[in-house]
Amino acid sequence: MQASHVFHRQLTHDLPVAVSGQGITITDSQGKTYLDASGGAAVSCLGHGHPDVIAAMHAQIDQLAYAHTSFFTTAVAEELASTLIDTAPKGMSHVYFVSGGSEAVEAALKMARQYFVEIGQPQRKHFIARRQSYHGNTLGALAVGGNAWRREQFKPLLIDVTHVSPCYEYRDQRADETPEQYGQRLVAELEATIERLGGENVIAFVAETVGGATAGVLTPVPGYFKGVREVCDRHGILLILDEVMCGMGRTGTLHACEQEGVVPDLLTIAKGLGGGYQPIGAVLAQGRMVDAFRRGSGLFQHGHTYLGHAVACAAALAVQRVIQRDGLLAQVRERGAQLQQIFAREFGDHPHVGDVRGRGLFWGIELVADRASKQWFDPALKLHARIKRAAMEEGVMVYPAGGSVDGRCGDHVLLAPPFISTPDELAQIVQRLKRAIDKTLASVPMVSA
Ligand code: PLP
Repeated sequence: MQASHVFHRQLTHDLPVAVSGQGITITDSQGKTYLDASGGAAVSCLGHGHPDVIAAMHAQIDQLAYAHTSFFTTAVAEELASTLIDTAPKGMSHVYFVSGGSEAVEAALKMARQYFVEIGQPQRKHFIARRQSYHGNTLGALAVGGNAWRREQFKPLLIDVTHVSPCYEYRDQRADETPEQYGQRLVAELEATIERLGGENVIAFVAETVGGATAGVLTPVPGYFKGVREVCDRHGILLILDEVMCGMGRTGTLHACEQEGVVPDLLTIAKGLGGGYQPIGAVLAQGRMVDAFRRGSGLFQHGHTYLGHAVACAAALAVQRVIQRDGLLAQVRERGAQLQQIFAREFGDHPHVGDVRGRGLFWGIELVADRASKQWFDPALKLHARIKRAAMEEGVMVYPAGGSVDGRCGDHVLLAPPFISTPDELAQIVQRLKRAIDKTLASVPMVSA
């Protein structure tokens, strides 16, 4: 292979060259085919090469590829926005289109801050977010994120954010608590933090409805988000839910917050919105917030060159139409139940699989050195990264999570297969992953953290 001049991420070893994609597979330049069990990074919800999405993109390019948003809106952006608002949580009235997840989070943070300036509360300047969370790699998004490993070297550049405990039932729920009591304990911690900062100084609480890229899928316990919503309302604080990874059908409902019975003030989406066919993300905003902007300055002080890109909107619109037409949300729920059974069969008594948790087609596997004590492996082993490489050798793509610098994050594997996966493909994914895990574990010393 020719020397690579691409400077993306991995500088220590060469990556295979992807040349084509079809259904749930990607094929490399050597002709090897990989099952895309993570949809890249929970992106490719319709798999690869979907003819309807490709046709919609072609049609849009033929008509108009790009028109800057300071001059025009476009029919396709308007149609996508209407589609998203028709299916949005109650009270959402507008959509702000961006090119990805980090941009969506940045826009949401600034929208929240400017909202309070518009309504005459400019003293509000604090965000509260959660440890073991991820909201993106740009500086604002990185600041609200609680992934210590990703933040470490950029800490001096980050805005001041207060982090509270995430909802991490497997590790943090006490033996004498029910899940509901655990959730209420977390809500009380949030409220105490708000009171310490002074409720009138806080802009928003930011959380992933279902955690993703940091601790291998963290599902909320019953009542947790209802309690969070109540606390935010009591103190006049906004609730920003980040569904960049867990949203757009991934957990079996279009928005994961539907399952919690809560409505956020701002909702960020990306990844599955465009299914990887184009880079696109969005912020969905409550009507009363947009009204405040309209009554106030009349302008959101933000923007990027590619907001509402016409081809990106066409791709996203086509993805959303296919999901609706083909009943894929119900399919995600059905396949999720099947996947759970496959996990039970393959990993039920695995000595180093501590927990398998998830919803729909969004699952995390937490690896432990010892099941009884839940002790993690030594982070220096970078087991999650080794498993990813071993899985590639087995012909399956899985998304690794880990990288502890604060002793709070072990090794995890995240699965987010395309919604179109068949039961047989799901079984193959888990079998290949199991082989990769077992081969990796056999190659490392059994040292725990
Ligand atoms: N928010 C969440 C919850 C994410 O999982 C991610 C990416 O994994 C982001 C934001 C950042 O999205 P992007 O990588 O598209 O910038």
